[in-house]
Amino acid sequence: MSTEPAIRIDNLVKRYAPAKGAKGTMTEGKLALGGVSFDVPQGSIFGLLGPNGAGKSTLINILAGLVNKTSGSVDIWGFDIDEHRRNASRSIGIVPQEIVFDPFFTPFEVLENQAGFYGIPAALRRSEALLEAVRLADKRNAYARTLSGGMKRRLLVAKAMVHSPPILVLDEPTAGVDVDLRRQLWELVAELNREGVTVVLTTHYLEEAEELCDRIAIINHGRVIADTTTRELVGMAREKVVAVTAAEDLAAAPAHEAFAKVEWDGARDVMVTYDKDRLNAGQVLAILQAQGLVIADVTTREADLEDVFVQLTAAA
Ligand code: ADP
Ligand code: MG
Repeated sequence: MSTEPAIRIDNLVKRYAPAKGAKGTMTEGKLALGGVSFDVPQGSIFGLLGPNGAGKSTLINILAGLVNKTSGSVDIWGFDIDEHRRNASRSIGIVPQEIVFDPFFTPFEVLENQAGFYGIPAALRRSEALLEAVRLADKRNAYARTLSGGMKRRLLVAKAMVHSPPILVLDEPTAGVDVDLRRQLWELVAELNREGVTVVLTTHYLEEAEELCDRIAIINHGRVIADTTTRELVGMAREKVVAVTAAEDLAAAPAHEAFAKVEWDGARDVMVTYDKDRLNAGQVLAILQAQGLVIADVTTREADLEDVFVQLTAAA
């Protein structure tokens, strides 16, 4: 198992059934996944990134057994989901995008019920430890409906881990969650990963993927447009920016054929975007100085995932 991927997805296609329109007209079924393939390596934090409607939840729901695929194959922890659905399901814990809870159960009961669902004997249950891990021990006996949104998310993470799966999947774990809670969830995910859990998370927050994930697949309109390490993806951004403050107001924006873009605020601030394969920051500054600009201050900006994402989704 050591060299096998935690999840292998091969040419996965999902077309939703056509919906009946007005007056009985048929609309064509939505092609949510148009032949998606990628592997999730064991031990990684893998980001499935894409804009709304890209097909992320469809893919997660196929892993969860909630949506039937149209074609293609999926192995979870080496178990084909068609041939070994039960073992596949036991190998994965899923935190769904939508929060759904019976409001009259307490966190402790939610976890005990889930353990019962998996047939885990009382002596082997981990409800207390899990509540501790997601920092909900003090809410053990509170009604779920009285928990904040962030607490509910954390309870869902605990619920997904009840059967100790080697893989944890989170669908948009931090959508609509405030900055502090987002941090807390990131820490929880990183902690579980350090303990050996392979994590897959979907997000449309690039910042989240860049900070947390060691590998990222980007999907757009149901197709994979990138599948590589986070480091390599960030390196794919060709454009860099130098922001310069001149010693005095400029009469006009500087211009040079080697610059990709120049933004001037009408006074002393200029931002030059350049292709890093063509120029370096020193050359940009030399060009500006040769044009008589006296530099008072300089900052450079590394390309981040946002830039790559925009480039890739624009091209696709
Ligand atoms: P994401 O999670 O990336 O936002 P989804 O997987 O939810 O994307 O949706 C992918 C596409 O499939 C969207 O166009 C969406 O409208 C469509 N879709 C999702 N669920 C259904 C469904 N149950 N029936 C028909 N179309 C659906
Ligand atoms: Mg979704």
